[in-house]
Amino acid sequence: MASVDLIGIGKRFGTTEVLRDVSLRIADGEFLAILGPSGCGKSTLLRILAGLEGADRGEVRLGDARVDQLPPKARNLAMVFQSYALYPYMTVRQNIALPLEMRRLSALQRLPLLGRLLPGTALRRRAIAEDVAAAAEPLQLTHLLERRPAQLSGGQRQRVALARAMVRHPAAFLMDEPLSNLDTRLRTEARAEIMALRQRLGATILYVTHDQAEAMAMADRVAVMQGGRVLQLAPPQELYDEPASLEVARFVGSPP
Ligand code: ADP
Ligand code: MG
Repeated sequence: MASVDLIGIGKRFGTTEVLRDVSLRIADGEFLAILGPSGCGKSTLLRILAGLEGADRGEVRLGDARVDQLPPKARNLAMVFQSYALYPYMTVRQNIALPLEMRRLSALQRLPLLGRLLPGTALRRRAIAEDVAAAAEPLQLTHLLERRPAQLSGGQRQRVALARAMVRHPAAFLMDEPLSNLDTRLRTEARAEIMALRQRLGATILYVTHDQAEAMAMADRVAVMQGGRVLQLAPPQELYDEPASLEVARFVGSPP
């Protein structure tokens, strides 16, 4: 995976300044949470990183490469949203393979005639099957590959969505409040699964949440955001013990 750098990001919607000079570095393999109230600019920052939204100012880097001008697909970041849209009529295996099949099909479209004649198709199919198996294994989905989404629990469905993101070997995972639609029990389960994913893959993760308990329990470091600014960026314990301001203290629940 790769490190992620956001440098001096600024963004307005009309006359509203949504991001004001935001700079963050997420190290390769780090789990960084962005914690802040609704409307503070968290999702906009994630969308700028993913290339779904343009910044007015600043730079975005993945590893050593500047990616501001690249379209979302070329950035190869895995976005995990609240609603992990799985295709209900496809099996788990087919859902996980989908990004690879799409890639295979678009490659074939570029070579309409040769693509059909080349003997690579069967090999490619086997490679896809191996990639699916490799993504399913660490997420404990191997025994569920022939099921359909309706036959899975909420936590299992979320694991399928993570596996589908993983088959593309993303540079980093971007998660925007991925647990907010789950009930308490499933949330605990899904939280443990994201932590396991992280442990097994050493994944670089940028995790957006308004839930301070989630951020403090899961992340290596937490960036506290408010009004389009990063107020403080530190490991959970340091934020709690040495909040830089009253706002931060209130947000992370430090004693007065
Ligand atoms: P958060 O994810 O922290 O809740 P957002 O990044 O979604 O915050 O939104 C930050 C601010 O930008 C909000 O005031 C929101 O209304 C505004 N905003 C977000 N997207 C747009 C848009 N496409 N057009 C206009 N305003 C937007
Ligand atoms: Mg949001």
